[in-house]
Amino acid sequence: MHELIIIGGGPAGMTAAVYAARKRVDALLLSKDIGGQVLTTTGVENYMGYQYIEGFELMQKFEEQVKQFPLEQKIGQGVAGLSQLDAGFDVRTDNGESHQAKAVIVATGKRPRPLNVPGEQQLRGRGVTYCAICDGPLFTGQKVAVIGGGNSALEAADDMVKIAQYVYLVSLTPLTGDQILIDRVKDASNLTAFLEHEVVAIEGESRVEAIAIRDLKSGEEKRLEVGGIFIEIGLIPNSELAREIARLNNLGEIEVNCATETGVPGLFAAGDVTNVVEKQIVVAAGEGAKAALQAHKYIQRL
Ligand SMILES: Cc1cc2nc3c(=O)[nH]c(=O)nc-3n(C[C@H](O)[C@H](O)[C@H](O)COP(=O)(O)OP(=O)(O)OC[C@H]3O[C@@H](n4cnc5c(N)ncnc54)[C@H](O)[C@@H]3O)c2cc1C
Repeated sequence: MHELIIIGGGPAGMTAAVYAARKRVDALLLSKDIGGQVLTTTGVENYMGYQYIEGFELMQKFEEQVKQFPLEQKIGQGVAGLSQLDAGFDVRTDNGESHQAKAVIVATGKRPRPLNVPGEQQLRGRGVTYCAICDGPLFTGQKVAVIGGGNSALEAADDMVKIAQYVYLVSLTPLTGDQILIDRVKDASNLTAFLEHEVVAIEGESRVEAIAIRDLKSGEEKRLEVGGIFIEIGLIPNSELAREIARLNNLGEIEVNCATETGVPGLFAAGDVTNVVEKQIVVAAGEGAKAALQAHKYIQRL
C-alpha cells in the first residue's frame, strides 16, 4: 500500500507530486497524460515567473521538476474507479490494475463538453475537434464551423478567420463573450454568425462534410458544407471516479473546503475538478500544493 496516490498529471497533480515528494511521502502519480488542459493552449501570459511561455513548454518544465524526485509514475493510465477500504482507498485503472493508498488526491481537471448530436462520436478526430488552438492549422483554406458563443468560441473563431477559407459561428444564444472579441469576430469578412441556432447533426462518411443547423425561432433548417467543426461550448469536470464517495455540486465539481478536504477522511481534491473558484494554472498549482501538504499531515496523524 502506498501512502498517497495522486490522480491527474496537470498543474494541480504535478504540483502535488513535487510537494509530496519533498515531504518524502511514498506517492504514486497516476494519469492519462502529463500536462492536462495547458497542452491545449498556445501561450500563457499569467503564470508568474514567465512573461510569456508556450503551454507545452510550461508543462515540460513542470514535468522536469517532478522528475527530479524519486516518485513512482504511471502515465497513460486512466482511473476508472475509486473506493474506500477499511484503512485507505482502492484505485482501479482502465486496464484493470488496482492500487491502494492511505490517502488520495483527485486532480483530474476538466474535459470539453460534447454537443451530443448524431455524427459527433463517429467523426471525432475526423473533422470534429474540441480545440481550435491545437487543430486549427489542419483546416487551412477550408470552410469550418465554430460552435459556441462564449470567449472560447470567439477566440477559436478569431483564430480560424485567419487560416480557414470561411467560418460559420453557430451559437444557441446571443454572443456572451468579451465585447472586444465580439467586435473582432463581427468585423471579419469571411465569417457568418448564426445566433440562436442549434446544431442538429454532423454529417459525413469518413470525414466531416457538413453540419445541419436549426433556427430556434423559425424552426428553419440549413445545411452548411464544412470540412471541420470546432466545438467550444465549455468544460465538464472529470469527477465521475469520485462520484460514489465524494460530494459533488450541481456542476459535477467535487466539493472541497479551503484545506482541499472532501469530507471523506484521507480524500483530497485539487484544481479544476473542484468547486474552487477561478480555473487557472496558478490556482490549480496552489491547490495541488495545499492538497499534498494536507495529505502529508493526514498520513502522519494515522
Ligand atoms: C484552451 C485553454 C486555454 C487556457 N489558458 C489558460 C491561461 O492562459 N492561463 C491560465 O492560468 N489558465 C488557462 N487555462 C486553464 C488551465 O489550463 C486550467 O485551469 C488548469 O489546467 C487546471 O489544472 P488541473 O491540474 O486542475 O487540471 P487539468 O489541466 O485538466 O489536468 C487534469 C489531469 O488529469 C488527468 N485525468 C483526467 N481524468 C483522469 C482519469 N480518470 N484518470 C487519470 N487521469 C485523469 C488528465 O489527463 C490531466 O493530466 C486554459 C484552459 C484551456 C482549456
